[in-house]
Amino acid sequence: MSTIITLNHVNQWYNKGKQSEVHALKDVSLEVEQGDYVAFFGPSGCGKTTMLYAISGIDRVTDGDILINDQNIAHLSNQELAIFRQTGIGIVFQQFNLVPSLTVLGNVALPMAFVGISKAKAEEEAWKLVKRLQLEQYAEHYPQELSGGQQQRVGIARALANNPPIIIADEPLGNLDSVNAKIALDILRELNEKDGRTIIMVTHEAWSLQDVRTIYHMKDGVILSVEHREPLPMNERTGKGLEDSAPKKAAEEGKKEASPENLSKMARILSNYFMRGHTVEETARFETLVTDRLSKKIDTKAFQETLDKSFKDGGVGLWKRKAERVASYIEKIVEKQKDLDATIELINQNPELTVEDEVKQLRKWITEEYVGTVSPYQNELLDEIINDRIHSFMTQDQFLTVLQRPVKQFGAGFPGHSAQIMAERLELILNGSQPYVPKQ
Ligand code: ADP
Ligand code: MG
Repeated sequence: MSTIITLNHVNQWYNKGKQSEVHALKDVSLEVEQGDYVAFFGPSGCGKTTMLYAISGIDRVTDGDILINDQNIAHLSNQELAIFRQTGIGIVFQQFNLVPSLTVLGNVALPMAFVGISKAKAEEEAWKLVKRLQLEQYAEHYPQELSGGQQQRVGIARALANNPPIIIADEPLGNLDSVNAKIALDILRELNEKDGRTIIMVTHEAWSLQDVRTIYHMKDGVILSVEHREPLPMNERTGKGLEDSAPKKAAEEGKKEASPENLSKMARILSNYFMRGHTVEETARFETLVTDRLSKKIDTKAFQETLDKSFKDGGVGLWKRKAERVASYIEKIVEKQKDLDATIELINQNPELTVEDEVKQLRKWITEEYVGTVSPYQNELLDEIINDRIHSFMTQDQFLTVLQRPVKQFGAGFPGHSAQIMAERLELILNGSQPYVPKQ
């Protein structure tokens, strides 16, 4: 294997010397092997996007060296850097960044036109990419006529123009629903495995790490640790294609006793599945806890209590209902000494909501008896604070305060009494003492 990217003591400051100074990358050194599938992983604000902009030459770093194929991009002129960005690296942006006045084909052909390829040739190549991403029928459409998932695929097709050996994706699943997120992950995996391209992904969601082989855990501009792992085989992932393969395989092979290795695999599958939208730390703790339960180091009661307990008190910080649901799934696996295939089968039979969907349901439930209209702004704010509340980032009192605070002061602006009812309903649901059946 050869090294394709090297970072040597890279530092990045924003607004250096000013009061608003941010030291966004702190003495980062690392090497990426050609053909690897790498993720920078960590909470929001830890410097992931900054890292990606540094590697792709979008921003010049304050100091340190960045070598791509042994070429120091810090030494390139602006013009050379522009060419490097068009040919050396393909970038998939979270917000898609498509040009609204160009068709799908035009958007995909654009990076080729930039480097002087003739229009006819560029369009011919763009067609191939459009086909590869199964966008033929949309080739003449404009971005705004497409769904988020389709726009994302256009973004990927465009990143592949000029055939770059490195693909960089910034939160590629951030704006996608779970079906499209799985499709995007499958495409990235294929670009890595079939084409042998080096993939670098930036994410704050543990769920999107299922195919990644090298994970850099980041916090506050620092690489905390590097984790190397084998990705789960296709048939052991939750998602597309699984429905057929898993049960059949289980039937063919009969029941296997779970080895320690399989237990940790199971724990990982379960954490990929249940912890979507949770933080790095919560996910890691969940995985350890599940491994302990599967190997019967702890009993059901301790397991459920830890799931439920807030993170700062040593728990995973799930809200009560969710903790109960998760515990009951996992008990089924423990009871029957289920093997890996059966675990996947069980998951497929019981589709779990993502945190995002769950927040929306909770929001619907707590506002359903409110007689006024809820504005889009209020809905958005509600989602944000419900999310904070279920992760215990916010106390019950703080939640109520934001509900009542006037919109002008960035509150939700609900009348006092209504706000109180909403806050109470949320607590009842979170504590598990209220049936949780939102009206559609
Ligand atoms: P992440 O992508 O992990 O959420 P970022 O790389 O976007 O994190 O940001 C890292 C830090 O740098 C944050 O504190 C952020 O506020 C700051 N930052 C990012 N971009 C800028 C900028 N253009 N100007 C000033 N500060 C910035
Ligand atoms: Mg970012």
